[in-house]
Amino acid sequence: MAKFNDIKSLTADELKEWLSANGEKSFRADQIQNWLFCRQISSFDDMKNLPPQTREKLAKDFAIRSLIESEHLISVDGAVKWLFKTMDGHFIETVLIPTNGRFSVCVSTEIGCAMNCTFCRTAKMGFTRNLEAGEILEEIIRVNEYLTSTGEIDADGKPAQVTNIIFMGMGEPLNNLDNVHRVCCTLHNQKLFNLGRKRMTISTSGIVPKIKELVDRNTPCCLAVSLNSTNNERRSAVMPVNRIWPIEKLLEATDEYTRRTDNYVTFEFVLMKGVTCTDEAAKELIKICAPRRCKVNAIVLNQMDDPSLEAPTEEEVNRFLEKVRAAEIQITIRNPRGRDILAACGQLAYKQQKVANANTESA
Ligand code: SF4
Repeated sequence: MAKFNDIKSLTADELKEWLSANGEKSFRADQIQNWLFCRQISSFDDMKNLPPQTREKLAKDFAIRSLIESEHLISVDGAVKWLFKTMDGHFIETVLIPTNGRFSVCVSTEIGCAMNCTFCRTAKMGFTRNLEAGEILEEIIRVNEYLTSTGEIDADGKPAQVTNIIFMGMGEPLNNLDNVHRVCCTLHNQKLFNLGRKRMTISTSGIVPKIKELVDRNTPCCLAVSLNSTNNERRSAVMPVNRIWPIEKLLEATDEYTRRTDNYVTFEFVLMKGVTCTDEAAKELIKICAPRRCKVNAIVLNQMDDPSLEAPTEEEVNRFLEKVRAAEIQITIRNPRGRDILAACGQLAYKQQKVANANTESA
């Protein structure tokens, strides 16, 4: 019996194993994965080059679809957000961010999150479970289906498909590394999605041993770290993970990543008024970045209903950027996309979960 019910969760080798255990030819694995990932079929009956009995056996053991679209919202700025329901009734989010012929997708890797960052709505949902590799891949497949249905064209004038993946939706991807690694390998596979290593970015809150494991596994991806504060006391206040692995340990791990992969690391930095968007924080950020191969992605806090955190003014943001740039640190400010459709991590799923909980309570 196969380990996963969602056939997309299986690697090619696992699929071959299943085929030979079921008296089928192992070369069928390539055909099956081509139907699943390149042609995005939703029924085993559509796998036309497979004998009917093979299709029947597959349908008996596996499912192709594991997400139900609950809602999709299109922002005035072009971002699209999906709310998907898993087969066990939980909500996850996926966001498409089209930019000048590039189609980036921010995927969820867990239902909820255990990391408890104070500025994040997903954290308020608690942690339910890791997503299976097939569920994460399906987020991308569903976006590809959407792009096909809209007739969107990419920068080369070809039918648009997803070009970049950011593992930065709901959940801490490194807490689900087995499945995220499987997903990256499938996306990187030339016969399937054929996405280059630089087109996939795993963003972590800073789980030091898992950063090392990522390097050991040679997972085809780039690394981004949510730094958000340059001082242990302030970082621990907004990111409890820092109490276990403080900034010094985190930087040791990112230095090792840079050295062993010959790749730079991206530090994500949420600008919060009076906390991370101050002259002192800019000075500390320079101290961290100056000796390292890195770049900084700053983003202004997406204001939530947490009265203790506030977004900085435009003037404060510009002052911060100027100070960091004056030290020749590469820093970009990421314009928040899709704020009208609650595109920040966890906002829509959190809202949906609250509605579901209220309905259960009043039933
Ligand atoms: S910011 Fe990321 S790691 Fe932190 S609680 Fe939210 S989803 Fe989890």
